[in-house]
Amino acid sequence: MSRYLGSVCKFCRREKEKLFLKGEKCFSNCILLKKRGKNVPGQHKNIKNKISDYAVHLREKQKTKRIYGLTEEQFRHYYEIAERMIGSTGENLLKILELRLDNVVFRLGLFNSKKMSRQIINHGNILVNNKKVNMPRYQVKIGDIITVSEKYRSKSIFKKDIDTTYVNTIPTWLNFDKNKTIGRVISEPYLKEILYHINSQLIVEYYSK
Ligand code: SF4
Repeated sequence: MSRYLGSVCKFCRREKEKLFLKGEKCFSNCILLKKRGKNVPGQHKNIKNKISDYAVHLREKQKTKRIYGLTEEQFRHYYEIAERMIGSTGENLLKILELRLDNVVFRLGLFNSKKMSRQIINHGNILVNNKKVNMPRYQVKIGDIITVSEKYRSKSIFKKDIDTTYVNTIPTWLNFDKNKTIGRVISEPYLKEILYHINSQLIVEYYSK
């Protein structure tokens, strides 16, 4: 499936909550705070039927998929991995998603959106343990050290990004030295520190139907 290239704000309008998909604009000029942003997109936006049980489950899955910028196949693939792991499938799924390199780079506050993080990773500007990793899906591990390539670090655009980052709540499972631009993974993700409210049980029930 190809990646969606249209306006991402419509996803937030659909879920009626901020998913922070657009970087700096999400903090300074969010459409959800305006009157027209309150409308649900689509041709059935004015139908006020009671939302079905299926729709509640579907919306939670769609919301989570969009937060992490994944296609349906990618999301399903992560769900299947989580299902095979020991422990709660829902919690495993969220941990896998949090440990994606693009999410970790975003949570370190290096860039203002996951989209931007993905772009920088794709261009080979992020190093894990001093080796270039150009796969946003790369799963970081405890002890991994994440840095930005010297070439990109010297660019003025990066200096501006890191000085104006709006992502200032670095979770306790990550450590970041802003002066040296070095990030470390110090434990597995704590679910209570995920930036969004996600009911993973609804996702499990969606796929179990
Ligand atoms: Fe969502 Fe950001 Fe657009 Fe606001 S500006 S609707 S948070 S993507």
